[in-house]
Amino acid sequence: MATVLGIESSCDETAAALVTDGRVILAQRIASQDEAHRPYGGVVPEIAARAHAERLTPLIEATLADAGMTLADVDAIAATAGPGLIGGVMVGLVTAKALAMASDKPLIAINHLEGHALSPRLADESLGFPYLLLLVSGGHCQLLLVEGVGRYRRLGTTIDDALGEAFDKTAKLLGLGYPGGPAVERLAREGNAKRVPLPRPLVGSAEPHFSFAGLKSAVMRAKVSGHHDDADIAAAFQQAAIDCLIDRSRRALHGAGPVSALVVAGGVAANQAIRSALEALAAEHGLPFVAPPLGLCTDNAAMIAWAGIERLGQSDPLDTPARPRWPLDPTAEAVRGAGVKA
Ligand code: AMP
Ligand code: MG
Repeated sequence: MATVLGIESSCDETAAALVTDGRVILAQRIASQDEAHRPYGGVVPEIAARAHAERLTPLIEATLADAGMTLADVDAIAATAGPGLIGGVMVGLVTAKALAMASDKPLIAINHLEGHALSPRLADESLGFPYLLLLVSGGHCQLLLVEGVGRYRRLGTTIDDALGEAFDKTAKLLGLGYPGGPAVERLAREGNAKRVPLPRPLVGSAEPHFSFAGLKSAVMRAKVSGHHDDADIAAAFQQAAIDCLIDRSRRALHGAGPVSALVVAGGVAANQAIRSALEALAAEHGLPFVAPPLGLCTDNAAMIAWAGIERLGQSDPLDTPARPRWPLDPTAEAVRGAGVKA
């Protein structure tokens, strides 16, 4: 049996986990920084980096203790090496390097997005390649054809905001606090989406890309108009987002060739309404729908440890850089409008 220690610190979750090649999570700990960032309505990179630096080492010790293990018992140390907020990534990667050197174990530098992309295979051993992955998180919104470990073809991406970001900004507008996704989903259950007309950006366009900046602005106009109930706005926003996700995913399925499943990952995949809509889309195509359990959707270290298991045998040099940007598909071309923040 092989065991990998995984470390995650790319955003506002400090996390460590021990995962075996038998798909068992022996232990995992996550320290959320929600409280520290709440006053600002979003993640403040400097605060995040300091919190990671304070918490990571005791967190790793506690995770090892939970499993009754020491570093001598692990086969490799896998850490997120990017993409993400660079201060946090450096804390996790430097810690992993120190542990790897001290214990003479291999270091495996993991792309955080690969962690998300492979996490469904930790939960479901029957999931084989290739599969179509909708990765929806606070920082990303992409459709990826996952052809194998390290083999990803980006079919679509957002040209402006990530969907999680749009959920968070909608929550802020409606005074729901941070993080906003779960709060918007709860409020949406009480509203009627039909009462607030909102746009469906890029729906029907040829390439399966996304855009959420215009939707966000429309939500703001609906709110300041004073004509709408907050619950109706939340419901309308969520429904518009779902319509975009489904149209774009359907487009990607048509262009992707044969796939074994439709898979969703990332923090926004915790949204039950989004899950149900994707499940129906998969059924429409006669495909299984795979979504990792909620705890594996948001940032966590079990998915990093699992990516380490998938890459066992790899050993990265101790001068491996932390990378703020690290596309999963290096051949994917920049999309017109991408990077332009609304
Ligand atoms: P991640 O970047 O993968 O850690 O995911 C965090 C993002 O997921 C944040 O933008 C959250 O607002 C969003 N999120 C979490 N839960 C939900 C939910 N139930 N519905 C929509 N978005 C969510
Ligand atoms: Mg993430």
